[in-house]
Amino acid sequence: MASAQSNVLKPDHHAKRRHFIFSEEHEALRESIRSFAVKELAPHAAEWERTTFPNSVFRRMGELGFLGLDKPQAYGGQGGDYYCSIVLAEEIVNANSGGLAMGLAVHTDMAMPPILAFGSEEQKQEWVVPAIQGQKILCLGITEPDAGSDVSGIKTTAVKQGGHYLINGSKTYITNGHRADVIVLVTKTDPDAGYDGFTLFLVPMDTPGVIREKRLEKLGMHASDTALLAFQDVIVPESSVLGEVGKGFYHIMWELQGERLIGAAGCVAGAQRCFERTLQYAGERSAFGRKIGKFQVIRHKFAEMATKIESARQMVYCTAWRFANGEYPVREISMAKLHASRVAVEVADECIQIHGGAGYMTEYGIERVWRDMRLNRIGAGTDEIMLEVIGRSYGL
Ligand SMILES: Cc1cc2nc3c(=O)[nH]c(=O)nc-3n(C[C@H](O)[C@H](O)[C@H](O)COP(=O)(O)OP(=O)(O)OC[C@H]3O[C@@H](n4cnc5c(N)ncnc54)[C@H](O)[C@@H]3O)c2cc1C
Repeated sequence: MASAQSNVLKPDHHAKRRHFIFSEEHEALRESIRSFAVKELAPHAAEWERTTFPNSVFRRMGELGFLGLDKPQAYGGQGGDYYCSIVLAEEIVNANSGGLAMGLAVHTDMAMPPILAFGSEEQKQEWVVPAIQGQKILCLGITEPDAGSDVSGIKTTAVKQGGHYLINGSKTYITNGHRADVIVLVTKTDPDAGYDGFTLFLVPMDTPGVIREKRLEKLGMHASDTALLAFQDVIVPESSVLGEVGKGFYHIMWELQGERLIGAAGCVAGAQRCFERTLQYAGERSAFGRKIGKFQVIRHKFAEMATKIESARQMVYCTAWRFANGEYPVREISMAKLHASRVAVEVADECIQIHGGAGYMTEYGIERVWRDMRLNRIGAGTDEIMLEVIGRSYGL
């Protein structure tokens, strides 16, 4: 008979749990990505803030199979499920470089999915196969100097002339824009057709008339390159159309859902990592004769942060489960993206506060987390646009 003592349940704060969406294989993958990020990427993070990360990272990750985790084996991918992408987004934060994580995510989770979903067999062979190997780099061009949130306001045109299209316009804030071999380009082919007037193209970046105008400087994400691009009388064959002519708006709205959820997963993982580093600091730093973590005020800051992170994590995992099971939960994806981005920025901000002056110093890397995380409330759809999508989903 069990003793009274053994019937006493004690909180299992330190138990290692695996969320039900992940299997043992996911956990093994998690370990290998983490180990790679810690050993091969993190040591260069500070240097890459100055230089941007090198293209060899793509090639190395291609060799390791990390660029096609959830992509079909027919194109050189690993054939895994959507959760593998979540694992990559979570573990790559161990590289300590938001810019690197973003450059990779643009390649694997923004530009590649529409080629796989809507591309012809030739397009997949030409771009997806080498992209999974890390031999070719992808970028995605939606935003323009005069249209970001309002995608329908873009002005880049593609005019059919015989057997080819003539493209004119410009795109801005394009991640990987300086290094990419090809751009998934959003254009208008029929300016009078409303949402049915958009078409996607795959435009090789060495096509005459594609100009990488400017390397844009920014608040954070310094390890990534961000471009202003011009398209001046760019001629591409009809075979460059990606998906259906006139359906580009719908194609890109679909793409944004996967991108937002992966971004939300990265926010949760980034916030968790920042939390852990700060927890360690609070256990080491003393003031007024005690460790700062022993002040109730500081303890409560950690409690608030942990609760926020956990709520965002559950939203992301639950929504990922629905997405992976064939649902199209746009409302919940928008909620997860909104909440996780806000939580990440709030946590990074609080972690700076707990570090005191050290939090403001570049040496500790916490200020960089804040600067990098801040983008998530803007990129891939701003907070305000997420609120619009959520609010409108209720018929308002
Ligand atoms: C570092 C970085 C990397 C990026 N990478 C890429 C990339 O690779 N490819 C790409 O295509 N784009 C990229 N972007 C662009 C990004 O997606 C846009 O900046 C974002 O969608 C917002 O568009 P905008 O900057 O034009 O802001 P605007 O649309 O001009 O918005 C300005 C403000 O108005 C608000 N607003 C706009 N419309 C409404 C509304 N209806 N209701 C309430 N408020 C509204 C916005 O929320 C925001 O606060 C990147 C941006 C950055 C900063």
